Amino acid sequence: MREDGKPRCDAFLRKPDAPGRAREPRCPGSSGFHPADVPILCGGRGLNTPSPEPRSRPTTALRLRRWLLRLCILVALGLVATWAWHQPFLATPRAVWSLYRQPPPTSLVVPVQGVRARQIADTFGAQRGASRRHAGVDIFGKRGTPVLSATAGVVASIREGGLGGRQVWILGPAGERHYYAHLQDWRPGLEEGQIVPAGTVLGFVGDSGNAKGTPPHLHYGIYGKDGAYDPLPLLRATR
Ligand SMILES: [Zn+2]
Repeated sequence: MREDGKPRCDAFLRKPDAPGRAREPRCPGSSGFHPADVPILCGGRGLNTPSPEPRSRPTTALRLRRWLLRLCILVALGLVATWAWHQPFLATPRAVWSLYRQPPPTSLVVPVQGVRARQIADTFGAQRGASRRHAGVDIFGKRGTPVLSATAGVVASIREGGLGGRQVWILGPAGERHYYAHLQDWRPGLEEGQIVPAGTVLGFVGDSGNAKGTPPHLHYGIYGKDGAYDPLPLLRATR
């Protein structure tokens, strides 16, 4: 016997068929070998063993019914998804989707209340220390002056730390990020995920972060797909 429990070939070679007995399967190369013996020796059913009944093929009507059922399920899922997409609890993802599909802004609200664009100095790209350049503009105002969102958007982040101190990040049109830094404080009730029209109060002018002790101002920057770019031309484009 082989390790797998099947009979060895030479067992068949040594045992000729006795008269009246059913024919034994033979190994390839031995006398009396028939190709139908191979599957039997290998543990199969043999070439002449009838295979199980083939599964009956579904009728055209049954196939059509299955396809209709699948179509109904897909339509139902589509209706549920459409309904859910328009519910208030998905307002923020809907706004984010819409913002990413919009083109970049061609003009901006000046983000410090009462300041005109021509009062803002062009300091974008100016050297700041040995290894850093100014990645935005500084808009000076009295401490506590409201800071406004320059675009419509969604509040992406409200945090404190680093160079910017108290800061707000807004996701705006075309997926660009707008950075409002050195705030004295945030507007009470401002939360991440809120949808904000242009001109919404985000916080108040201050000197937090690395601006501590300097005249209160807002550092405002825009980060597009290629990094920071100068917001001043867009601020000056607003009439
Ligand atoms: Zn700055």
